Amino acid sequence: MPELSGDLDVILEWADEFRRLGVRANADNPADAELSRSFGAEGIGLDRTEHMFLGDRKRIIQTFILNEDPAVREKAVNELFEAQTGDFYGMFKAMDGLPVIVRLLDPPLHEFLESPRALDVEIAKLEATGGDVKTIAEKRKLMEQIDAMSEANPMLGLRGCRLGIVYPILPVMQVRAIATAAANLKKEGLDPKPEVMIPLVSTVKELEKLRKVAVDTINEVAAEAGVELDIPVGTMIELPRAAVTADEIATQADFFSFGTNDLTQTTFGFSRDDVEAEFVPQYLAEKLLPYNPFATIDPGVAKLVKMGVELGHEGNPDLVCGVCGEHGGDPDSVKMFHKIGLDYVSCSPYRVPLARLAAAQAALADK
Ligand code: PEP
Ligand code: MG
Repeated sequence: MPELSGDLDVILEWADEFRRLGVRANADNPADAELSRSFGAEGIGLDRTEHMFLGDRKRIIQTFILNEDPAVREKAVNELFEAQTGDFYGMFKAMDGLPVIVRLLDPPLHEFLESPRALDVEIAKLEATGGDVKTIAEKRKLMEQIDAMSEANPMLGLRGCRLGIVYPILPVMQVRAIATAAANLKKEGLDPKPEVMIPLVSTVKELEKLRKVAVDTINEVAAEAGVELDIPVGTMIELPRAAVTADEIATQADFFSFGTNDLTQTTFGFSRDDVEAEFVPQYLAEKLLPYNPFATIDPGVAKLVKMGVELGHEGNPDLVCGVCGEHGGDPDSVKMFHKIGLDYVSCSPYRVPLARLAAAQAALADK
């Protein structure tokens, strides 16, 4: 485990005396959580649970989504629940006593499904080599099924909270795993502090529906386990509609976390995955953009964050507000978030020391 050198440690301790902003980390496995903690993170601001669904687990979700047989689906969900309970147990234990914000599954649906193009290549190979006819027919059916679900704009499609609304058993499974891991740790005398975060919300109705699912599930687990569970439920603000209706959305949220990666993408209408390509380098060269808005918060996007914070507090005066986009570890952006009045920033583990310093500089500039 890397450690901060002595001198830097002293400087960061001074910084901590001045800063007002909290500093958390984005991490989705116990090793990164421990690393963040060693760098001074005061919690996990974003656990992207889709990162826990690589390899075989992706296949289990695919089986769940494509299969209509209730028994097959139930088996898939039970397998996922067991795996996730273990994941969360490790995360909460590593961050014992500190908050861990767990975000429910967010990525576009197709990321869980096999690529139709790859299946097509596989089928062609099997046919050319005289492969088993039954296998070929099954692969073709799978390809057609996945093809039928393809979306023109997956990043604007079935992802985030929409996935949980279309497949409600997925948020139930995840929240049950979060609450079960917390209950198990409590019984061992530890102090787990999970929070549930619902992604890509654009209307209060979506959040109301999924919040109820989360709260009911937490209460069920608490009653079954015989322990008290106090698990806040909040949302990401990462779409312009969510920011401008934050007063309504906050009535259903204990906290907001601004997802400035998606908020930048959807405010500009720039693809976050293609920013290095196409027109953006030319825009930078011609000074049509002063800097890459995915690295340093753009003033227009910052206005939406400010509006979200102000409106949010109208809807819920106790609302806690943070940011968990990449900007949370960028010093200039951290200074802007201090000015806006956020409660914390959350960034990748290695940026935590930088964020602590930037937060202190921002506070000192106020004096
Ligand atoms: C964001 O959109 O800023 C965010 C933190 O979520 P993700 O990057 O996982 O979409
Ligand atoms: Mg996002």
